[in-house]
Amino acid sequence: MVLEVVCPTCGGMKNLSVPANIITQKKSGTIKIHIKINAVCPEHQFLVFVDTRGTIRGYEKIDIQLVSITHKDKIKNNIKEFLTRLNFT
Ligand SMILES: [Zn+2]
Repeated sequence: MVLEVVCPTCGGMKNLSVPANIITQKKSGTIKIHIKINAVCPEHQFLVFVDTRGTIRGYEKIDIQLVSITHKDKIKNNIKEFLTRLNFT
């Protein structure tokens, strides 16, 4: 399963492949993925929250604060557009 992850701080984007069984084995709730520095962008680390259908639900910056709602919505729209392109939804 490939997730298009967007850095909540600088907007850097990268496709990360996540083993699908990590997501499908989880029956409910949210999977938290720790994105380390250099995984998506060279400067920031953060958490990505993915639901059991493999949809990114949100981001959290590490040691700082939650991203603003507007920024989060922007990211969500980017991801929705990407998934639509892939016929993911
Ligand atoms: Zn960044």
